Amino acid sequence: MKFMARRTLLYEGKAKIIYEGPDANTVIQYFKDDATAFNAEKKAVIAGKGVLNNRISAHLMTKIEAIGIPTHFIRSINMREQLVRKVDIIPLEVVVRNVAAGSLCKRLGLKEGEIIGRPLIEYYYKKDELGDPLVGEEHIMTFGWADPYELEEMALMAWRVNDYLSGLFEGIGLRLIDFKLEFGRIYGEYGEVYIVLADEISPDNCRLWDARTGEKLDKDRFRFDLGDLVDGYQIIAHKLGLIPEGFIKGGNLNEDLAEKLDQIENELAEKRKLKNIAKPPIGGGSKPRKL
Ligand code: C5P
Repeated sequence: MKFMARRTLLYEGKAKIIYEGPDANTVIQYFKDDATAFNAEKKAVIAGKGVLNNRISAHLMTKIEAIGIPTHFIRSINMREQLVRKVDIIPLEVVVRNVAAGSLCKRLGLKEGEIIGRPLIEYYYKKDELGDPLVGEEHIMTFGWADPYELEEMALMAWRVNDYLSGLFEGIGLRLIDFKLEFGRIYGEYGEVYIVLADEISPDNCRLWDARTGEKLDKDRFRFDLGDLVDGYQIIAHKLGLIPEGFIKGGNLNEDLAEKLDQIENELAEKRKLKNIAKPPIGGGSKPRKL
């Protein structure tokens, strides 16, 4: 496949591969079709998932960047790859919850669908061997996974992303139940540190329910065998205006159309000049700070 051309692999995760980028400050993020759940106890390869996540994540990251929240996203390269800034990943999963679901219900005995009084932010330590355990601020400080400034910055950015995305999805008939973010550090020329939103924002790491019917359109379809995963992701991508209806049928992707859509999205992003990769991000939520 042409987008798999010779590249140096830096890291392979469950859903993505990171390759060396064209320069020292960038890497290429490749979206695989692999789906895993329950810390990789359940696995499958689902044709089309990578393409959909790449498009959805590129779109949401672009929107988030446009409201002044710095992200690692630079641009899409093709259907499965995007060019992103190289960051030093903070080993935390930042989960924001608006409605009780998933592990929160299990842990606290809540009923799925219960509205939480105010958005809840939780931190999980990124460690596959331990099953990404829930941790508190005290653990984060004690073990130095992030400093107090970084933690405050991540929480603020997570709140803003939640506000923005909740509104965006509400406008297209979807409820943002919860989601997971990851952040990374970029080091400036003078030793200053910038925190940027990294990884991906896709139905792999968000819970999205149809506002009218309550249908689950996200990775819970795969986790709990609730229906075809690609169908759910396609509904989300279609509502976001990213793909025409029936883009992927029975696992068959219209590759020419996918390339064309990517090109259009890329040209628009270029025009908006959302990124100047020569410079670290300025403004927005991230304030420079000396190491
Ligand atoms: O499983 P749990 O209820 O804790 O998940 C909360 C949110 O975080 C869900 O949207 C889920 O998709 C996401 N998540 C994730 N990666 C993990 C754990 C959870 O994206 N390792």
